Amino acid sequence: MSDGRTNLIGLPFAELTREIESVGEPAYRARQIWHWLYDRGATDFESMTSIAKKMRPRLEERFTIKRPEIAETLVASDGTRKWLLRLEDGNEVETVFIPEADRGALCVSSQVGCTLSCSFCRTGTQKLVRNLTAGEIIGQVLIARDALGEWPSTEGRKLFTNIVMMGMGEPLYNFENVAPALRLVMSPEGIAISRRRITLSTSGVVPMIPRAGAELGVNLAVSLHAVRDDIRDKLVPINRKWPIKELLAACREYPGLHNARRMTFEYVMLKGINDSAADAHELVRLVEGIPAKFNLIPFNPWPGVVYECSAPATIEAFATILNGSGYSAPVRTPRGRDIMAACGQLRSESLRRRASAEAVSAPA
Ligand code: SAH
Ligand code: SF4
Repeated sequence: MSDGRTNLIGLPFAELTREIESVGEPAYRARQIWHWLYDRGATDFESMTSIAKKMRPRLEERFTIKRPEIAETLVASDGTRKWLLRLEDGNEVETVFIPEADRGALCVSSQVGCTLSCSFCRTGTQKLVRNLTAGEIIGQVLIARDALGEWPSTEGRKLFTNIVMMGMGEPLYNFENVAPALRLVMSPEGIAISRRRITLSTSGVVPMIPRAGAELGVNLAVSLHAVRDDIRDKLVPINRKWPIKELLAACREYPGLHNARRMTFEYVMLKGINDSAADAHELVRLVEGIPAKFNLIPFNPWPGVVYECSAPATIEAFATILNGSGYSAPVRTPRGRDIMAACGQLRSESLRRRASAEAVSAPA
């Protein structure tokens, strides 16, 4: 609301309707505007040709259609693109698009920085500045669609087919904004990316896992990374609050899991820390009974970090053990390493203020 106008991007449909009605317009106008925002990708009211010409400046007076500003675009040698986005208050976040032959995933950030401080993650070295708003979260999606030229949303084949909530921040510590943003993304008359093509990654905010399942029903990926609490305490410190046993119990209850729709366990391969054959066997034992698959992530280094990536042969051997027990365990090819766009390499130079307690939505 910087200049007193309301940004329409990020408002749930009911709120958008209320806003439009508040300026004396009929409710169907909200539907038209919705279509322009999320199906056609309009960035101003003037281009909304189905709305009477004289009406458009009146909308302009009261509302804006604002995406975050692109401060920098980097393209890696493998085609991965990273955008550094500047938010209205000057804070910055990163968003990454990872193209593949016939599809592509956008890696979306949920917070500026992160309150957690996983010892192998670069984002974790940046203090949480604040949660992103729903508008800033869906704004990342709109920017990617703009850049790829993939409007309208509901027509044509697309390269941008999937969303992973795996950028900066812990999405389940900002559920109040992530949830409405993902609902906008999933709306079949808008961005129209279905919940089956959305994966939310959490470090293990156990009390929020049932809500993510019940209210969004997206795919869940859990950053497990270790099979023993003493090791996971060091790697993923949230483990001290919700240890492996509690985390896996919540995973077991996640709705809609079956053999064709499995929970992903992410496992970063750290040399000499969590990558032994015994670790792999223990992993199999731990997830028994959960329709699961694994994602082995070769550790991506960053300046100042103490860890090293496991040797390729070690990663192969680890995967073979998981495969041998019937689990899919692809090794994630690092993408965009040369532009620091790979997993765990994101960080922005935003003000590193301490988070004020009320800016952070901590779980009950
Ligand atoms: N905060 C959420 C989602 C973002 S991170 C979470 O932690 O799940 C996406 C994945 O990358 C997580 O599994 C995270 O643990 C992993 N990751 C973080 N730093 C990494 C690094 N340096 N190399 C490889 N993977 C990393
Ligand atoms: Fe935060 Fe996830 Fe990085 Fe941990 S791995 S510090 S939860 S972004």
